[in-house]
Amino acid sequence: MPVRVCSWCNRVWVDDRWLEVEQAVERMHLMLRSVLPPLAHAACKPCLDIIMREVDGLAGDRPTCRRNALLFSVGEYSDVMLN
Ligand SMILES: [Zn+2]
Repeated sequence: MPVRVCSWCNRVWVDDRWLEVEQAVERMHLMLRSVLPPLAHAACKPCLDIIMREVDGLAGDRPTCRRNALLFSVGEYSDVMLN
């Protein structure tokens, strides 16, 4: 199972919440592992809110398409909307 990392703020999704990298490393005991888990790009809720405001503010006539493309690029909608 890949570890989700917010592409904007680098927080890490651990135990159903976003943690700072240092906290995630400690919580997941990453320093004790010889093999690190794979990483997956995502967006935490605060970053996603900022991004959505920026996307909605862009000029153009198809904001829904841009919004859906962005959500697709950061993973499943349910994944990125958590916290
Ligand atoms: Zn973030």
